Amino acid sequence: MRSQAHLLEIFSSIQGEGLLLGKRQLFVRFYGCHRTCSYCDTPEAVTAWQPRGFQPDSFAFETGNGADERIANPVTAADLLALLIAREESAGPHHSVALTGGEPLLHAPFLQEFIPKAAATLGPVYLETTGDLPKPLAQLPQKGIGWIAMDIKLPSITGDAPRWREHAGFLAIADALPAKLFVKVVAGPGLDPADLEKAVELVAAQSPHIPFVLQPVTPQEGTAPPAEQGEFRDWCRIASSRLSDVRVIPQCHKLLALR
Ligand code: SF4
Repeated sequence: MRSQAHLLEIFSSIQGEGLLLGKRQLFVRFYGCHRTCSYCDTPEAVTAWQPRGFQPDSFAFETGNGADERIANPVTAADLLALLIAREESAGPHHSVALTGGEPLLHAPFLQEFIPKAAATLGPVYLETTGDLPKPLAQLPQKGIGWIAMDIKLPSITGDAPRWREHAGFLAIADALPAKLFVKVVAGPGLDPADLEKAVELVAAQSPHIPFVLQPVTPQEGTAPPAEQGEFRDWCRIASSRLSDVRVIPQCHKLLALR
């Protein structure tokens, strides 16, 4: 049987994070996430925050001028590719297709089928991931992924349990792939420097040249104010002491009020 996936939305926008900042992309937001980050800005994707057994019966497909069409879930790889080609024809060109969530790697069997098809038609895909699911990553095709934006989650920021071993396993697999890999760490008030040091140590042990992005938590209603400027200087110093490519990049799509 062909694999199917439940989606939340498909839309065209500007990449607002990391190394492809500012590039036009077609975003595919998958439903489902195994984490519960305190700063999550897509709570509708988080499995634990939905009724038990919930799966969305439809998703939003952006048709242009801010309008969405509702399309039934689940989709096959061929369904998704056809939708992306239609959007590329109506709103392209885009730099690449961004697979985001939620957590795309919860749909690994689907991605095994989808990624080669997408890469052959629309070019290599960009994978955004929590970076703690090494086994699903290992199941994906070696070719067809152009970029991996890998999170390392700091427990003092997410409020979740640490998953250092899983992050280390993921790093080892991702670094061996032909894809361009970078690590993103969300940083903000309450950050425990020991957590940041641990994340830096993991990356340095794999390769000190893997780009490392410190991303300030974007304040939302009801959340703490942003970190002090001096704290970011300290965090940059900690990361730069072991790594050769450290950058601070805020979520620019939020600054521009983009989707
Ligand atoms: S990994 Fe992403 S989608 Fe999942 S809870 Fe954290 S911020 Fe939300």
